[in-house]
Amino acid sequence: MVERDAYHEDVDDTAGSDLDTDVLPPAPGAEQYIALALANTAIALPGGHFVDLLGTPGTAADWLAEQGLAPPDAGLREMCAAQVRSLREQVRVLLASRSCSDPAPQSALNAVNDALSKAPTAELLRWDPIQGLHRTAPHPITQIVEHALAVLAANAADLVTGPDAERLTACGSAPCTRFFLRNGRRQWCSVRCGDRARAARAYARRSQHEPV
Ligand SMILES: [Zn+2]
Repeated sequence: MVERDAYHEDVDDTAGSDLDTDVLPPAPGAEQYIALALANTAIALPGGHFVDLLGTPGTAADWLAEQGLAPPDAGLREMCAAQVRSLREQVRVLLASRSCSDPAPQSALNAVNDALSKAPTAELLRWDPIQGLHRTAPHPITQIVEHALAVLAANAADLVTGPDAERLTACGSAPCTRFFLRNGRRQWCSVRCGDRARAARAYARRSQHEPV
């Protein structure tokens, strides 16, 4: 009977209907702005589920490859993945401040500027008896990551200073924390978030009108 009670508790929970952990479709604008896609790689789902697309060196490498920022076989180390996650946190702070028209925190400006100014140096000219003259990066993986960070930071800077900055919005459907570019008055990053927010509102209305 204990098991059955636990089951009923789950079903009665209003948020219990979407306990799925499959990843949401890209938020509006995330396909235009890679910085928005970066910000949305940390996904909070109902039921306390959390998906981090940059959570391990392997998934971070896959994400960078999908964005065309790294070759598919780039062997990323945890240190590199952590750098991308760290830029993501600061980009999120920057987008949050811009979407509320608040002052931009200095830490976020510093992180974006550091990444921007770390754009890698040129590939150097070398010679060896097998390849003859050729150009290679001094540290190929480091260079890949620094290049990716520079591209992401430049895109974030473009987004918050460009014409689309006014449409930048944080999804209004808890627990979602994604950002998107608003079209009209829509406050949700996805149909699923909109449905959940409407259901929560309806539930709140119902419980308000219930006799005590
Ligand atoms: Zn959302």
